[in-house]
Amino acid sequence: MKAIQITQHGGPDVLTVVETADPTPQDHQVLVEVLYAGVNYIDTYFREGIYHSELPFIPGKEGCGRVIHDPRGEIADGTVVAWASAEGSYAEKVCVDRARLVAVPDSISPEVAASMLLQGMTAHYLLYGVRDTQQGDSMLVTAGAGGVGLLLTQLAHAQGATVYSVVSTDEKEELAYAAGATEVFRYSEGLAETVRRRNAGRGVDVVYDGVGKDTFQESLESVRPRGLVCLFGAASGPVEPFDPQLLNKHGSIFLTRPSLGAYTATDDEFRMRAQAVVRAVEEGTLDIRVHEPYALDDASRAHHDLQSRSTTGSVVLKVAD
Ligand code: NDP
Repeated sequence: MKAIQITQHGGPDVLTVVETADPTPQDHQVLVEVLYAGVNYIDTYFREGIYHSELPFIPGKEGCGRVIHDPRGEIADGTVVAWASAEGSYAEKVCVDRARLVAVPDSISPEVAASMLLQGMTAHYLLYGVRDTQQGDSMLVTAGAGGVGLLLTQLAHAQGATVYSVVSTDEKEELAYAAGATEVFRYSEGLAETVRRRNAGRGVDVVYDGVGKDTFQESLESVRPRGLVCLFGAASGPVEPFDPQLLNKHGSIFLTRPSLGAYTATDDEFRMRAQAVVRAVEEGTLDIRVHEPYALDDASRAHHDLQSRSTTGSVVLKVAD
């Protein structure tokens, strides 16, 4: 089969097209023919070696495809499924854990299905796992027009929250407003100052910061006393070590650095979040915006564009029709 392989860590150029043997599913897995693979920021951390995976490896955790072999004979060949935690989804075939896939309804297109779960479940646990979002809550979301950012904004808006979204371009500003953001502004405006000007100096109940290094200090300054800073990513790089006394200084604030893995730790929790996402997509509460699909062979361009901030919404590789 054709696949994208990484034999050494580095920039987007280390994503190489290869011919390799088909994977063999174990009893708890099914073999899937990939239609679209989801491209996520976490894939760039594995590519760079910030997160560890034994070399060589095929990147990609997420996708949508057709089941072509179930060793237990439980899932019919041709069933269209989506997943978010398989190893090696940038390939024509991948093995997926049977407990960690969902059936894709006809009403959801394969490219949307390929990008709904990882970012959708992340938005879900950030709003309903890390805390329990209520109507009237206020939040600041960095990278508000990115994959996670747009979904988080839509779900929070549907819940009746006030969302302050931070983006870098006019096009992204438009998308963030369309997703339901209450106010959209730029990083250069000063996050804390801008938020406080808009809510009578109080600060927001929670900051969702997926940008990391460049925005973290401002995130601490934007939250209200006893509010929560949820640092969930590092698109601009990892946050430097810091003095916990800062949490006291900013008003006894809380800090968490969560992961999707910890919030889908059991199969039941995975199913609950995955089904909530599928339902929200079907009902239209979540409108997944997929950036123009890249060919599998163009995986390195997809990574380059994602890391140079030129994509909006979710990114996918088209693998087969
Ligand atoms: P995005 O589509 O949001 O892409 C990243 C965005 O970050 C860019 O579009 C850009 O938006 C913004 N950004 C700000 N500064 C930089 C910079 N210096 N370099 C690159 N991008 C920058 O990606 P994802 O939706 O896939 O992921 C968003 C974040 O969420 C990532 O940090 C990712 O690791 C994290 N994540 C965490 C999970 C968890 O469970 N903890 C699960 C899933 C994702 P703009 O130009 O508007 O600033």
